Amino acid sequence: MTQASRFNRILQDGLCIGCGLCQSLLGTDKLRMARGASGDLQPQIRGELSEQDVDLVYATCPGTRCEGIPPAEIEAAPHQDLVWGPYHSLVLGWAADPEVRFEGSTGGVLTALGQFLLHSKRVNFILHVNTPKDEPTFGQPTISTTPAEVLAGAGSRYGPAAPLTGLAEALDRGEPFAVIAKPCDLNAIRNLAHKDSRVNELIRYMLTPVCGGFMPDAAMGRFLKEEGFDPQEVTALRYRGRGCPGPTTIETRGGQRRDYHYLDFWGEDESSWSLPFRCKICPDGIGEGADIAAADTWPKASPDRVASETDPGTNSMIIRTARGMELISAAVRDGFLELGEEVEIPYMDATQPHQVTKKRAVQARYDGMREAGSLAPETIGLRLEKLNAMNAPEENARQKRGAYERAMAAKS
Ligand SMILES: Cc1cc2nc3c(=O)[nH]c(=O)nc-3n(C[C@H](O)[C@H](O)[C@H](O)COP(=O)(O)OP(=O)(O)OC[C@H]3O[C@@H](n4cnc5c(N)ncnc54)[C@H](O)[C@@H]3O)c2cc1C
Ligand code: SF4
Ligand code: SF4
Repeated sequence: MTQASRFNRILQDGLCIGCGLCQSLLGTDKLRMARGASGDLQPQIRGELSEQDVDLVYATCPGTRCEGIPPAEIEAAPHQDLVWGPYHSLVLGWAADPEVRFEGSTGGVLTALGQFLLHSKRVNFILHVNTPKDEPTFGQPTISTTPAEVLAGAGSRYGPAAPLTGLAEALDRGEPFAVIAKPCDLNAIRNLAHKDSRVNELIRYMLTPVCGGFMPDAAMGRFLKEEGFDPQEVTALRYRGRGCPGPTTIETRGGQRRDYHYLDFWGEDESSWSLPFRCKICPDGIGEGADIAAADTWPKASPDRVASETDPGTNSMIIRTARGMELISAAVRDGFLELGEEVEIPYMDATQPHQVTKKRAVQARYDGMREAGSLAPETIGLRLEKLNAMNAPEENARQKRGAYERAMAAKS
C-alpha cells in the first residue's frame, strides 16, 4: 500500500471529520483542505507523503484516535460517570453581559469565557471559528485578540469548518492561547500533545460546545433548494444565537431575508438530523478533552416553540478540570459569567438523550466496522467497552450489524 492510499483510507472509511489538523502539521504543499465529492471539507493530497507523515496523521487525527483530558486530570476529577466522564462540577450558567447572552448560541458562556481570558490577560489570543464571507453556510477558523472579535464569532456554525488548519501556526507564535472548538477538534489536540510539548505549555484552556454533529453541505443544499433558494445566491446565514436558540436567518444577494425557527430548520426531533458518518460513530460528543464543555438545556434536546421566543439562554457546563473550576470562579468574580443551580447526571441525560444513546452504541458500531475490514477510531479512556457491556446483547448485535452492513456497502 502506498503512503497516499494509506492516508486516503481514513477518508474512504468515513473517519475524516475535516478538522484540518493534518494540513496544519504537514503543510499545504502536501495536503490541502478543499471541498471533497460530498461538498464537505476534506484534505486532498498535493505532494508526496512519507511514512513518517502518515504515521503522524494516524497518531493525531481524530478519525483514527480519540482521547480526552490527560490521565492525571481524569484521576483528579472528584466525579466519574460512565456516560458523562470525569468532572468536577455540573452547573448552569450564562454570560453576565446581556448582549453576549443574546448573541451567543445558548447563553453565551463560551464567548464570555473567551472574552474573560483576553481581558484578564491569561491568554494572548483565542483560536475559534467564525463565518467566512464567501461560504456563509460554512465555518472558518479565526484568531481573536480582543473581546469584540470573540463576540463576532459567537453562535454555532453547523456547517463544515476546519478549525485546526491554523493550529501549527498558532503554536509557532510561542504565546499562551485558548482554543474553542468542537469535541473532536479537541480530541485531535489532545492527541497532538503526545507529539508536541508546546500543546500543554501554550494552550492554557480548551473549551467546547457539546456536539451532536455538523450539518453536511449536501443536507444544507437540499434545505436551501426545498425552500426555493439558489445556494449560489445566499450571502449570509446565521444558524442560531440572538435569543435561544434564536432564528436561523438566511439572506440573499437579491435582498431576500427569511427567518426559520430552529425546529423548522432541524426538524421536530433528532431522528430527522442529517449527519456525516463520522458523527454517527462519534465516541466523544460531550467534550472529554475540554476543561469546560457547554451545552443546551432543553428537555429532550428540543426547544419549546413558544417558550423559546423569550428564552434568554442558559447553558449547562461540564467542568472537567481544576483549571476549568478556577476559570469559572474568576470569570464570575470579575463579572463575566453568572451561575445558576448545580445539576446532576439525570439532568444531563434528560437534556442530552442523543448523547447518551450514542455513547452507549458506538463500541458495537466499531465492532461491526472492524469486522467488515474498515478502520474504526482507537479510543483512550472513554469507557466504551464498559458501556457496551451494559447494553442488551440484542441491541449490541443490532448496532454491530448496521455498522457492518454500512461498511460493506461503502466498499462495494
Ligand atoms: C456542530 C455543532 C453541534 C452541536 N450539537 C449540540 C448538541 O448536540 N447538544 C448541545 O447541547 N449543544 C450542541 N451544540 C452546542 C450549542 O449549539 C452551543 O454552541 C453551546 O451550548 C455553547 O453555547 P454558547 O452560547 O456558550 O456558545 P457561544 O457563546 O455562541 O460560543 C460558541 C463558540 O463556539 C465556536 N464555534 C461555533 N461553531 C463552531 C464549529 N463548527 N467548530 C468549532 N467551533 C465552533 C464559536 O467560534 C464560538 O467561540 C452544537 C454546536 C455545534 C457547533
Ligand atoms: S486530521 Fe482532521 S482533516 Fe485530517 S484526515 Fe483526520 S479528521 Fe480529516
Ligand atoms: S459529533 Fe463528534 S465527530 Fe461530529 S462534529 Fe461533533 S464532536 Fe465532531
